[in-house]
Amino acid sequence: MKKARLAGLVVLALIVAEAGRHANAWMSREAAVPVPNAPAAMHAVHAGRDQPYRGDLVLIDGAHPVREAGRQTDIIRLFDHPELRNGYGLANTAIALSKRAADKWQLLADAAREDGIDRFFIMSGYRNDAEQARLYEEKGSLYELPPGFGEHSLGLSFDVGSAAAEMNRAPEGRWLSKHAWEYGFILRYPQEKTAVTGIRFEPWHLRYVGMPHSALMHRYGWTLEEYLEALKQRKSMSTAMDGVEYEVTYYAASAAGDTAIRVPAAGAYMVSGDNRGGIIVTIQTRTATGA
Ligand SMILES: [Zn+2]
Repeated sequence: MKKARLAGLVVLALIVAEAGRHANAWMSREAAVPVPNAPAAMHAVHAGRDQPYRGDLVLIDGAHPVREAGRQTDIIRLFDHPELRNGYGLANTAIALSKRAADKWQLLADAAREDGIDRFFIMSGYRNDAEQARLYEEKGSLYELPPGFGEHSLGLSFDVGSAAAEMNRAPEGRWLSKHAWEYGFILRYPQEKTAVTGIRFEPWHLRYVGMPHSALMHRYGWTLEEYLEALKQRKSMSTAMDGVEYEVTYYAASAAGDTAIRVPAAGAYMVSGDNRGGIIVTIQTRTATGA
C-alpha cells in the first residue's frame, strides 16, 4: 500500500525549477547522491556535515547560535525589487531579506490588502553581525540579543509594524495573527509563550518557516521550540492542504557528520536542520485521484 502511494509522488514543476538555486530550496532527485540497494520509490542520501545548522527550521536562541551555514544565500535588498514591495512600506532602503521569504511576504501583503489591511511597514530585516552588535550596544540586553544569537542574522526574520497603531492593537497585527501561517510565516514570540521562547511578546516579529510547518504550528498552537520537540518525539507527522500531502520526518544527525536520510526517488523534498542536532525531511506529494 505504502509503495503504491509513494509511487504516486510527482515532481512539482515550479518547485523543482528552483532546485539547486538556493541552499535551502526544495530539491529534486538530481540534487541527491543515490545509495545502491534502496527501494525504488524512496532512496537514501547522505546529508552533509553542515545540514543540521541550515534550513528554514533552524532554531536560534541563547543556546543555539546562528552558524555561518545558517545564513540564507538569497538575501536581497527589498528596495531594489519594486515587484516585491507593493502595498506596504519600508522604514529604510537598506532592509534586506531572503528572496524566498520576500516572495511569500508579497503574497501575504496582497491578500491582506484585499481585506482592507494596507498599512504594514517593515522596520527591520536581515542583520549582519556588525548591525546586531550595534543594536545590542545601543538598546541593551533587555531588548536586543548579542550578535549570533538573534534570528535576524538568518535572513528569514523581520519586524513589521503598522502605520495605524501599535501592532498589538492594529488591524495589521490582528490580521497577521490570523493569516500569517497561510503564507509560511509564524509569529515567533507570542504573548502566551514567553516561558517557552524566553523572549517577551513581539507582535511584530515574523519568521519564515514555510509550508507545511507554519500550518502544523498554527494547528497545534506550537512555537518553533515546541514543534521541533514534537517532531523529535513523534519522529514523523503528516498533513494535507490544498490537495498536497506533506510528510515531515525527523532524523537525529549523526555525530560523524554524515547522516543517511530517505527521500523520494522522484519527487520534491526539502531538508532542514533544526540547529539542535536534528535533520528534518519534508516530502511533498500530490494526493493523487484514485491512489
Ligand atoms: Zn525582530
